[in-house]
Amino acid sequence: MSNKLWIDGQWVDSKGGGILAIENPATGEKIAEVIDASREDIDRAVVAARQAFYDGRWSKLTPGQRSLAIWRLADLLQANIEEFARLESENTGKPYQFVSLGADMPFAVDNLRFFAAAARDTHGNSAGEYMKGYTSMFRREPVGVVGQIAPWNYPLMMAIWKIGPALAAGCTIVLKPAPTTPLTTLKLGELIAAAGIPAGVVNIVTGGNDTGQAIVEHPDVRMVSLTGSSNTGKKLMKTAADTLKRVHLELGGKAPFIVFDDADLDAVTAVATLTSTFNTGQDCTAATRLYVQEKQVGKVTEALVEAMRSVKVGMPFENGVQMGPLISNIQRERVKGFVERAKAGGAKILTGGGAPAGKGYYFEPTVISDADQKAEIIQSEVFGPVLTVSSFKSEDEAVRLGNDVLYGLAASLWTKDIGRAMRISSELEFGTVWINDHIPLTSETPHGGFKQSGFGKDLSAEAVGDYQITKHVMVKNS
Ligand code: NAD
Repeated sequence: MSNKLWIDGQWVDSKGGGILAIENPATGEKIAEVIDASREDIDRAVVAARQAFYDGRWSKLTPGQRSLAIWRLADLLQANIEEFARLESENTGKPYQFVSLGADMPFAVDNLRFFAAAARDTHGNSAGEYMKGYTSMFRREPVGVVGQIAPWNYPLMMAIWKIGPALAAGCTIVLKPAPTTPLTTLKLGELIAAAGIPAGVVNIVTGGNDTGQAIVEHPDVRMVSLTGSSNTGKKLMKTAADTLKRVHLELGGKAPFIVFDDADLDAVTAVATLTSTFNTGQDCTAATRLYVQEKQVGKVTEALVEAMRSVKVGMPFENGVQMGPLISNIQRERVKGFVERAKAGGAKILTGGGAPAGKGYYFEPTVISDADQKAEIIQSEVFGPVLTVSSFKSEDEAVRLGNDVLYGLAASLWTKDIGRAMRISSELEFGTVWINDHIPLTSETPHGGFKQSGFGKDLSAEAVGDYQITKHVMVKNS
């Protein structure tokens, strides 16, 4: 059904849309075609979502009823987990065992189970007497029809991070996956119906950036939530201003990984390697800037180069593969361009830096040293398996260098000194700060940015709150 749109609980043909070819990035071969939805298609999806919102088929269910349906969706995803993981790997090139089946899908199931529980949370609803003779009530109500726009790095998981809290809050949805990776999100449509979530509550439309733009422009969409690049976030915010929509933005990152002399250097090497190459570095929280205190920088760099060379790169379904290709040839050319410009600017490529021979959009795990703090390779999001190594002298300098980018999504610091860990974690301007680890997330903990990494939270009860609006009802009671 990849050449249809999921609108009002059924597969429908496009009216006036085009076609997008979908590739397997591990081979470069075309594996499917999907619709590049037109403005008319988006209007149909919004009309369905609007009808579903205002007749109360979802928003007026009890939280317990909504919770049960979301839980059933989690059960169905769990029951079909291998099929979803296989399709995700075919569409993205992700290692099947290590990433799709080993990480993305089980986490997506857990995320849904959390949001099923969060649907029944009563925080924020309260009542009291704040003026003599009156009772005030605070009601947390769903925002309405929300437009949700996802990126290509974790296609199904990002779709779940979007629909989970919106469904828990009682919203109805028009969801657009990224143009290159729509297959698992489309497949979710039938599971949503089978879970008993009524027709029209979740509508799935495929398409490119213009399709996304049409969702943002639509006057009946009350809020848009984007996970994507900071540039797209800026454009989206400008467009949303015309209809004064709520905007929820999960944008790019450029995570520092700050290592003090007293850190466990074996753990540093292992985790820096894993988190700069996991998902081929196409992760908004990936370790990208390693800062090591002067005394240990030589030792850490040497160990890191060796570890990056031993990462097993290969085809998604090969045993033991840790890293697959980048998502597209365009992305590979982008990553290559960053590395070439870094080299031209005087940085040293210690390992990797190129594309291996053969088919697919592969790129070698890469370590770069001697880059200037102001260089593009340190300042801009590369979104590939590329790690820079720099040194620092003092705690103050570590904080200054760590914060010295436009992004603020995630950071880690490595030290056995608890006081230092506490001091620095409060100074770092990032939405998540890990101490002696990097990358783990849980469904209960909020994920989102500071600075130009955006605002609004994914995951956690806070995410559900982002899809609700507070209403004050005041009763004259005497
Ligand atoms: P992108 O910004 O190119 O596209 C993201 C989505 O926005 C796509 O579906 C795209 O079609 C749509 N889009 C593009 N232009 C639009 C417009 N003008 N109006 C409406 N929609 C539009 O991002 P990408 O390349 O797909 O994903 C990679 C980016 O996502 C990286 O910057 C990464 O850091 C970020 N990301 C952030 C998080 C997070 O939680 N903060 C998580 C994953 C990815």
